[in-house]
Amino acid sequence: MKVPTTVFLHAFLGFALYAQGANVAMPKNLLLIPAPREMSVNGGEYLAKEKPRTERLASIPPEGYELSITTNGIAIRHSDEAGAYYANVTLSHLGYYSLKEKCKVYPCLEIKDSPAFRWRGVHLDEARHFFGKATVKKILDMMARYKLNVFHWHLTDDQAWVLDVPGFPNLVRHANGATMGEKIGPFYYTANDVREIVVYAKARHITIVPELDFPGHCGMVAKAYPEFTCQIPGKGRSGVLCVGNPKAMRFVEKVLDWACELFPAEAIHIGGDECSRAYWRKCPRCQEFAKREGLTDVEDIQPWVTKHLAEYLAKKGRKAVGWEEIAVGRGKADENGESENKDARKPSLNLQKNVLVMGYHIEPGARAANMGYKVVQTPNWRCYFDYTQQLPEDPFRYFIPDRRWLPFKNVYRFDPYEGVKQEARSNVIGGQCCNWTEVTYNQYDLEWKIWPRAFALAEILWTYPDPDNRDLAEFSVRAEEHRRRLIREHVNCAPLK
Ligand SMILES: [Zn+2]
Repeated sequence: MKVPTTVFLHAFLGFALYAQGANVAMPKNLLLIPAPREMSVNGGEYLAKEKPRTERLASIPPEGYELSITTNGIAIRHSDEAGAYYANVTLSHLGYYSLKEKCKVYPCLEIKDSPAFRWRGVHLDEARHFFGKATVKKILDMMARYKLNVFHWHLTDDQAWVLDVPGFPNLVRHANGATMGEKIGPFYYTANDVREIVVYAKARHITIVPELDFPGHCGMVAKAYPEFTCQIPGKGRSGVLCVGNPKAMRFVEKVLDWACELFPAEAIHIGGDECSRAYWRKCPRCQEFAKREGLTDVEDIQPWVTKHLAEYLAKKGRKAVGWEEIAVGRGKADENGESENKDARKPSLNLQKNVLVMGYHIEPGARAANMGYKVVQTPNWRCYFDYTQQLPEDPFRYFIPDRRWLPFKNVYRFDPYEGVKQEARSNVIGGQCCNWTEVTYNQYDLEWKIWPRAFALAEILWTYPDPDNRDLAEFSVRAEEHRRRLIREHVNCAPLK
């Protein structure tokens, strides 16, 4: 990013004071996250006796705003409703209440601001552990405060299916709400629950993208409706959709119909990851299906499913989102040499470029962007918040802590453009953190894992500080202040280190 003519004054001063170990602190209300793209502090304060003046200006970028605070008043210019909303979010960080003046007081300054990326996401897996409406709403509140705007809601998996779908009552009958063999619940979301949360999110300019995972990760479908998954004598339930069974595909379409009815978002996530081919190889119906459709072998079944569902959603005016396999198959190990992607698999056949690809490793996500797909990056070594924070003391469990780690400082190294060619950069529309919950048991555990790491995510996706010149020490000063604020509001934010 080019350094703006009016540099991040607060950031510069904050860094200077921090670096010198000075006792003089920067005014805490100027320590913003995410940092505005341009800000100049003019000195003086405004005693807010009147409401801000607002004006809509088409020349301001989407979600953007300009904020001018002088001793005479506050003026907001904004592009759209989201821009006006974010101007007020910034104001809420800047102001403090004066008991003496009996009003809010704001520092005099000028801000010009708009996001670097339009998808600034937080993902939550409620199939491995169910948290419920109150927790989800609290996450949405905190997301809005840091200008995060997409909530990716993982609602189905092998362990549970937590969305009630009319006509298929068995799906939620077994929703335990916890892994590790616990039998509690069932816990799941009704249509009214979902509608309530969608409205709540919309008021905060957050889009909810539901994820219904097909054709793999269907263990709960196998338990609820065994006939929709491949059945191999002696091998038990497969957890893989029996694509050769027309009733199974009709079931999937009905689930997507219902998702489209409940969720207004253009994007509907269909999963598409980590699907074993072993069952399709042994299932007579699926082999017959592959032959009938002219597929080379069962390897082509998953690409067929992706293409079919993407076209089905496109006809309904929606856009399919899938994990990286839908575009690039599986093949290359990631930067840390992990071998989970070692078995080469085929990407989708003639998949239209109008799907959205979610990269959970840097290289495959970047490759999809270079191929022309729109991409949201959530590489595990930067964005998987179920990896340990490497804190000296930590009361919570993590997913394979001795092999996978993600301290706060590493999140701040996230670059959604890593590996993406200059001419393909516009294909990267954003990023998100993923909160998988195999070993996340309650709200306190979840909040500890999200914060403060999501501060770094919010800053990167909104401000996009130059990856070669990121100042962790300066950012840590701001993050420490915001950590204190969250704790005051009963958010269980972990230490920075
Ligand atoms: Zn089958």
